[in-house]
Amino acid sequence: MSADCLFCKIIAGEVPSTEVYSDDAVYAFRDINPQARVHVLVVPREHHEDAEALAGDPGLLSSVLKAGAEVARVEGVRESGFRFVFNTGDDACRTVFHAHLHVLGGEQLAGFGR
Ligand code: AMP
Ligand code: ZN
Repeated sequence: MSADCLFCKIIAGEVPSTEVYSDDAVYAFRDINPQARVHVLVVPREHHEDAEALAGDPGLLSSVLKAGAEVARVEGVRESGFRFVFNTGDDACRTVFHAHLHVLGGEQLAGFGR
């Protein structure tokens, strides 16, 4: 647990959230400001600053990706398609410095250059 980290507080239950999926390694909950009909955040229980730091623990990174796929399944978008996003840095509007995977779907998402 990192002091003053919003997602550590959410994992600890000190800040409320709406659970979608949980296991020993990760906690997944609905984004408070959804950018698509399905917008869930998959957060490793252990605090890592960003995706690159998370990649230093390949087992945990794998758990986050597998949990993201499970979230897509329980949210009913596994077949229709979904997007995994890790925002990094100011240009990506990164706001929370505890690594997290966005799972977006449930509607046609904007393409890249299409
Ligand atoms: P990022 O911009 O990649 O750092 O994503 C942080 C995400 O956390 C944003 O999509 C926010 O809407 C979301 N968020 C911020 N506070 C909360 C909260 N209390 N509960 C759920 N999601 C939140
Ligand atoms: Zn944290």
